[in-house]
Amino acid sequence: PKFVYAFTEGNKELKDLLGGKGANLAEMTNLGLPVPPGFTITTEACKVYLDSGTEPSALREEVSAHLDALERQMGKKLGQADDPLLVSVRSGAKFSMPGMMDTVLNIGLSDESVDGLAEQAGDERFAWDSYRRLIQMFGRTVLGVDGELFEEALEEAKKAKGVSTDVELDAADLRTLVEQFKDIVGKETGRDFPQDPREQMDLAIRAVFDSWNGDRAKLYRRQERIPHDLGTAVNVCSMVFGNLGPDSGTGVAFTRDPASGQQGVYGDYLQNAQGEDVVAGIRNTVPLADLEQLDKASYDQLMQIMETLETHYKDLCDIEFTIERGKLWMLQTRVGKRTAAAAFRIATQLVDQGLIDEAEALQRVNGAQLAQLMFPRFDSDAAIEQLGRGIAASPGAAVGKAVFDSYTAIKWSRSGEKVILIRRETNPDDLDGMIAAEGILTSRGGKTSHAAVVARGMGKTCVCGAEELEVDTKRRQLTAPSPDGKGSIVIDEGDVISIDGSTGKVYRGEVPVVPSPVVEYFEGRMHAGAEDADELVKAVHRVMAYADRVRRLRVRANADNAEDAARARRFGAQGIGLCRTEHMFLGERRELVERLILADAEDEREQSLAALLPLQKGDFKELFEAMDGLPVTVRLLDPPLHEFLPDITELSVRVALAEARKDHNENDLRLLQAVHRLHEQNPMLGLRGVRLGLVIPGLFTMQVRAIAEAAAERLAANGDPRAEIMIPLVGTVQELEIVREDAEKVIREVEETYGVDLGLTLGTMIELPRAALTAGQIAESADFFSFGTNDLTQTVWGFSRDDVEASFFTAYLEKGIFGVSPFETIDKDGVGKLVKDAVRDGRATRPDLKLGVCGEHGGDPESVHFFHEVGLDYVSCSPFRIPVARLEAGRAAA
Ligand code: PEP
Ligand code: MG
Repeated sequence: PKFVYAFTEGNKELKDLLGGKGANLAEMTNLGLPVPPGFTITTEACKVYLDSGTEPSALREEVSAHLDALERQMGKKLGQADDPLLVSVRSGAKFSMPGMMDTVLNIGLSDESVDGLAEQAGDERFAWDSYRRLIQMFGRTVLGVDGELFEEALEEAKKAKGVSTDVELDAADLRTLVEQFKDIVGKETGRDFPQDPREQMDLAIRAVFDSWNGDRAKLYRRQERIPHDLGTAVNVCSMVFGNLGPDSGTGVAFTRDPASGQQGVYGDYLQNAQGEDVVAGIRNTVPLADLEQLDKASYDQLMQIMETLETHYKDLCDIEFTIERGKLWMLQTRVGKRTAAAAFRIATQLVDQGLIDEAEALQRVNGAQLAQLMFPRFDSDAAIEQLGRGIAASPGAAVGKAVFDSYTAIKWSRSGEKVILIRRETNPDDLDGMIAAEGILTSRGGKTSHAAVVARGMGKTCVCGAEELEVDTKRRQLTAPSPDGKGSIVIDEGDVISIDGSTGKVYRGEVPVVPSPVVEYFEGRMHAGAEDADELVKAVHRVMAYADRVRRLRVRANADNAEDAARARRFGAQGIGLCRTEHMFLGERRELVERLILADAEDEREQSLAALLPLQKGDFKELFEAMDGLPVTVRLLDPPLHEFLPDITELSVRVALAEARKDHNENDLRLLQAVHRLHEQNPMLGLRGVRLGLVIPGLFTMQVRAIAEAAAERLAANGDPRAEIMIPLVGTVQELEIVREDAEKVIREVEETYGVDLGLTLGTMIELPRAALTAGQIAESADFFSFGTNDLTQTVWGFSRDDVEASFFTAYLEKGIFGVSPFETIDKDGVGKLVKDAVRDGRATRPDLKLGVCGEHGGDPESVHFFHEVGLDYVSCSPFRIPVARLEAGRAAA
């Protein structure tokens, strides 16, 4: 393969090979923009080096050939004594990794050529300053010398002279400094600073290769989920100088404001300086607009180039440039990073300018950005005391009184208090408390802990794993180390704290919160059409319309009460894909279910069923009303048993204590026996879902009756109920057949009684591997499938969904076994393959089989694309994620 490309040979599509920087330098070169000539060594060369420990054998010769060509073009040789060509050697990976890898400037300077440079530039000070920069950078990045040593020597030189800035050092001072720097190199490395320019270049190239595997770079890639095997390209570029006097300088520019998307002149300029000075913030830059006064010709040319770039890239570009004695040079450009808000605004602006179409606009934004815009934010945290920092688990800003258990959370929130639920970690028992709280703070667990996953699902702010905070639920106290590290700060129950789920920061006291205008818009409290509507809201409104126009996937909500259903509808839900009926039995009704499960006499069971029927019917009527005209999939009861039974340990202790007091409680004793009888080692794999329905006579038929009667009564009230009945945890078609037969009997009965045709359909969840594998058979008895990818992931991987995320997932993520939890983003190769095959087999049996997904993955951007590809009809997700799912479904189809 070819390992080296001149800038004239590449283009912007070659990022894999040339890295982002190299590809864009080539693109600019070919656009005729003033780019200092140079060449790029490919990522392939880097990969060979990283794999084998040596550069590919052809590389040296290819570099020589390109260097020759460069020297001919520039009319001087690298490091030539009387007039040296100098080059920069810069890293440039496919994905930008700002500041993570190495760069060396001024390659080619030596004891010999420094005088030539001085002569050519007519500036001795400049030449010696360039030389000392080379030794400093080369020493640090290539030879691994501690950078502090150079900094100290520089400080010493300034102190000795009684000056405070670098510029006040003259040529003689810098010449002395160069000697000192060379001594440092000699002492620290046992070798002299290399005087041969080609050796300098080769060593620098190798150092850039090596920097791909530097600690900083590796950490960054892991965080940003950039694959570790891409390697970096290396750009060798002839040097231009911004530090040759007042008619020189360097700067950065954006073709529009990366924060708001507004067009205008954005950037900074620094006169008489080199690029690193801007980044290092050594001197104060001036606004780019001031360049017009300083150097009108260069300014005008820059404006022209910015327009060329925007029209060419059809996007916001950011730019690094240098002016050398009045001549403008482009050092870098790339499609610029932007805030989430700017992404939406820029996408619509570019449509208005006719630069991109709606389909392209959809590719310029993403669901994660939209999600970010939907969370409330803290106004400013400047004056507030920070208690600590955890993992930013679910974004948003929340303020409230500290509470340490769910019971208090619920009690206080009922009386109108805002609370933050603080736990060491949460478990399913905390669900009610989490719902009641403004936000959740835990001291243990990672991004995939129970708290994090559940909070994200609810759209609730969560900071988890704040390990420096000590949570004592018994004393109802949170203890944080004090800022000086000597003492500690104690937060008692009732004290106000603030948590920021976007940064992971935890504060004492109240930080002011502003609601998200985007949510105000989705809620219908802010109108995009209004004259004075927020620009962001207008843009979001338009992009959502683009997405809705093209998407094939319908979007439904996971909702089990009228309030959530109504919100989901406002957010654009086209039905309910999953109503978890077990959520209707929390709180006071839990006892009824408990009684039902524990009943050993038929009349006892009948009684509890009779008590549950009207409650369920009422629930469904409300739900059908809220979703009038849209499908509502009601899933029959599916609680893991332990969630509905008293805790076995607590109960045992209670009974044992009573025994000790000789205080016999017949009821508790009976209860304990029953709980023992039903106790399961693996409740998730136990008596739940359809199994429960088959074992407890009358349970499912009661629910079916409640659904049918609720629908019939909605019809009578001129409503348009569209109920679908869903059976959970089916593993074989026989289970479904039995339930279906019983259900149809009840439905017919209700239809006869009310004299209506309810048009109810009956389908199943596909959430066990066996169900997926036998989907062809199961489809014979199902009108629809809804993939329960939570349980399917649990059972395909053999991961307990309640435990693993708090236990070994962090280790798995760190080892890169997966980049993201399979409970968050669908595992395409494993779980996804089962889904894909089940779709095929199900449709083969029943071509009109309706297909959806209602696991957590239904609201995850990447997973939505997968579900689009495998041909599902809809995704279903929690109400807050509906706009994200709509957007991503549109992006998948565009
Ligand atoms: C699932 O398993 O994916 C599902 C939606 O059901 P639940 O989460 O209620 O088990
Ligand atoms: Mg399930």
